[in-house]
Amino acid sequence: MDISYHKKISKTCELIKKSTYSVAFTGAGISTESGIPDFRSPNGLWQRFRIVTYQEFIIDRKARNEFWKMKRELIQEIINAKPNNAHNALAELEKRGFLKYVITQNIDGLHQMAGNKSVIELHGNQRGSVCLDCEKVYPLEEVLKMLKEQELDLRCEVCGGIIKPTIVFFGEPMPEKELLMAQQIANKCELMFVIGTSLQVEPAASIPRIAYQNGAKLIFINKVQTEWDWIAEIIFYDSAGKVLKDILDVIKSEKF
Ligand code: ZN
Repeated sequence: MDISYHKKISKTCELIKKSTYSVAFTGAGISTESGIPDFRSPNGLWQRFRIVTYQEFIIDRKARNEFWKMKRELIQEIINAKPNNAHNALAELEKRGFLKYVITQNIDGLHQMAGNKSVIELHGNQRGSVCLDCEKVYPLEEVLKMLKEQELDLRCEVCGGIIKPTIVFFGEPMPEKELLMAQQIANKCELMFVIGTSLQVEPAASIPRIAYQNGAKLIFINKVQTEWDWIAEIIFYDSAGKVLKDILDVIKSEKF
């Protein structure tokens, strides 16, 4: 069914009004408008850097050097990034009681920075690093300092162990607690926004499918098609910042 943009916006707002349990599931696409590069897009990170897997990081000093070299190059982009209209709209929806959770595949922390309180991070976050041996935590600023002063294979100042960012690497299992919570939320929700994700990474991509199987309505906001578009009630092929701002404007203007 091809309905006009404005009809889709108002239909989405009706669904928000009806739903007692709405959530958002977000991926890299929501943060590209904040200047955080996507991995898979033509200008994405994978074109500029090789992927260092979890296994390599643990056993191979050269791979760790390679990883931290990439990090050193990107860290300023990370520090400078600010939430965009899409993040801000989701925060406002939560504040107004229309959004229970944001489940995110992103590690950039922009949802929290925008003001969302209930955020589930499936791939960890880059706010810090941790020693794999003694579990001493190193905040981002400290890592930044170490990257400037140390050899690139960062080592714990207490025990000499390998320091690893608190992000989930390729080949590393997802944090069980977060994944379980996300699945439970997907089971319960009545409405799920799927924003900026190509749904190619499992098991994260199973979250919208669980919601669909349990009768939730899904709103997809993506620049490109995904192979799961058929489970969506409404699809926007558009900028997430624009669509979510338009939705929020309607909600603000009405008496909900
Ligand atoms: Zn240590």
